[in-house]
This record gives sequence, structure tokens and C-alpha cells, in this order.
Amino acid sequence: MKQLLDRIIEENRYLTELGKVADYIPALSTANPDDIGVCYIDEKNNLYKSGAYNTKFTIQSISKILTLTLAIMDNGLDRVFEKVGVEGTDEPFNSFVKLDSPNVTKPANPMINAGAIVVTSLIKGDSSNRFQRILDFIRLVTDNDSIGYSEEVYLSEKTTGSRNRAMAYLMSNKGILDGDVEDILDTYFKQCSIEIDVVDLAKIGKFISEGCKGLELSDVSKKELTILLKGILLTSGMYDYSGRYAIEVGIPTKSGVSGGLMGVVPGNRGIGIYSPSLDIHGNSIAGLGIIKSLSKELNLNIFN
Ligand code: GLN
Repeated sequence: MKQLLDRIIEENRYLTELGKVADYIPALSTANPDDIGVCYIDEKNNLYKSGAYNTKFTIQSISKILTLTLAIMDNGLDRVFEKVGVEGTDEPFNSFVKLDSPNVTKPANPMINAGAIVVTSLIKGDSSNRFQRILDFIRLVTDNDSIGYSEEVYLSEKTTGSRNRAMAYLMSNKGILDGDVEDILDTYFKQCSIEIDVVDLAKIGKFISEGCKGLELSDVSKKELTILLKGILLTSGMYDYSGRYAIEVGIPTKSGVSGGLMGVVPGNRGIGIYSPSLDIHGNSIAGLGIIKSLSKELNLNIFN
């Protein structure tokens, strides 16, 4: 397996030159496009890693699936989906063009920024302990208490986040977002700045694949939650590339703009990938090549 990962990294390395490291958050622009890391955890908990598996990077949008889990545990499914939809979208992750139409009452799904900001607002707690709860939850799922956040990325995003700020104020004006907008944004920026590595990502994938094992919920609720998380990942985890991705790769996956990919592999397995050069959709360009190769070589496509 280790040799397979080494080979797949090398076969896809050329792709990094076809993409670009994100720079709209200035602190992300210093990432090294040559860093590529992969981790695969199998059903027996064997952990295989290759490349830059030690490199830390910020979780960014991959946090959205975990904040969604927390918000559902706090409020139940019905209350959460009153405020955010479950439909895929052909708009980019940071778009909010449709939100201002009179007949649109909620963001399309919880994986685009607008939807994720609403989800963060639904997590119980005041502004300081809401972030602490998110951090504790990520530490629990990854079994890694050393996880923290990058103050530099958080401040960089906070000072340049006009687009996220604009969509949050629009949602507040329309009554979609309740509470103090700056407080909610602050938590959102911080959750995106949590630092992880590919091993942590593979553990998140395995956690969801195992039916959210360990959460204090009934078996029925855990089953319902897991089906929902996998469905949302498959239909909107890769933003406006999710449809093609579902066919070509067939693994419920979430991407983040710092170059992470977290894959929920059926049969209690998980994948974590890092490569910061991105394609036009904001997904890791070599990461996509790597997970496509893994899906083919290990026969992981859920539609197969
Ligand atoms: N923090 C990023 C933002 O809000 C998250 C986006 C992403 O990872 N795609 O723009």
C-alpha cells in the first residue's frame, strides 16, 4: 500500500503546475505547491502515509462537515434544515448571487460559505465557547488533542473577508442569520483556521464512514446523521464540481481552499490528502488526480 501511495503521488505531481495556490486569503499564499501528502486508513485501522504527511495546513471548508454535525446534534435535523438547504449548486463556493432574490429563503447547502456561516450560527454557546466546542469536537473525532488553530491565517481571513462579511450581513437582513454577525463570522474564520494534517483528515473520513461512532446519540439518530452527511458530501462537498466528481471518483469527499481533501471511503475507511495548488473550482488539483487514481486502483467508487 505504501508503494502504491508513493507511486500515485509521483504520477500526479505534474498537476500542481496546472493549478494555483489560493491567495485571496493572503496568509495561504505562502504554502509550498511541492508539498503533497496522502494518508489512507483501512477498516482494520492500518494507517498508510506518504509524502508530506507531517505538513500542517488549515482545515478551511473541511470544517463545514463537522460544524454541520455539531449543529445537528445541538438542534436536530428539522431546525437546521429550516435555515439551510440540501441541494447541490452550480455556483462557486463563495457565491451569493441567488441569496438576494425575493423567493430564496436559505443558502443552497451547508458546504458553500453562506450555508456554512448559517450552520456556525446554530451551534450552541456564546462567541468564545462556540469556537472551543468546535475545536474540542475536531480533537475528539481525530483523537488528537494537540490540534489548535493558526492565529496568522485567522487574522488574515478576518481582515480580508469582505465577501463572507457581505453575505452574512445580507442573510442577517433577510432574517436567515440570527445573532451578532461579527461574532458569528469570527467563529467561522477561526474554525477555518484550525490546523491539521492528512492523518487527521483520514481519521475524520473514517469516523463518518464508521457511522459517526462514539457520538452520544441513539443508533437510529447516528444512522440518519451518517446518511445525511455522506449524501451532502457527495452532492456538494466539491462545490460546483460535485456532479462530475461523484461519477469519476464516487467517494463522498470534502475539499478546502488550503488544498486538503477528506474522503469517506465505504467500509470503515478514510482518506486524507494535501496539495495546495488548486483548480478553478477551488479544489486541490493534484489531490483530485490522486483520489481519482486511488478510487480506480483500490476500487472505491460507491457506484461500482
Ligand atoms: N475560509 C474559506 C472562506 O471562507 C473557506 C473556503 C474554502 O475552503 N473553500 O473563503
